[in-house]
Amino acid sequence: MDKTALARKKKQRAAQAAAGNTKVEIILDAQELEMLDHDCKVRLPGREPYSRAELIQMMIRKYHAELQRQLSDLQKRQCEKCKECLPVQECPCAGDSTCWVTAGWKETILTID
Ligand SMILES: [Zn+2]
Repeated sequence: MDKTALARKKKQRAAQAAAGNTKVEIILDAQELEMLDHDCKVRLPGREPYSRAELIQMMIRKYHAELQRQLSDLQKRQCEKCKECLPVQECPCAGDSTCWVTAGWKETILTID
């Protein structure tokens, strides 16, 4: 990178920090990287593919919206034992088979089919 490019990069990072953006470093294995690049491309056939960052940002937003829907469905139910609105985070009855905390995480844990 030449001096101008470095200065531009530095200015861009400062602007992103000022906007409240945070850089996150993630380690992907070869398969995950291949899947990410594949998805970036096939999501926009015949057009400029999404960048890795764009796709990850959108996946976070899509995933978060999905989780919010799941949580609002849970909120319509309550723990059979303590009658707290779900999802219960902590409960003195945890361990009791009728308390949602004991096995409720099985409803919210992220699984890959
Ligand atoms: Zn409970």
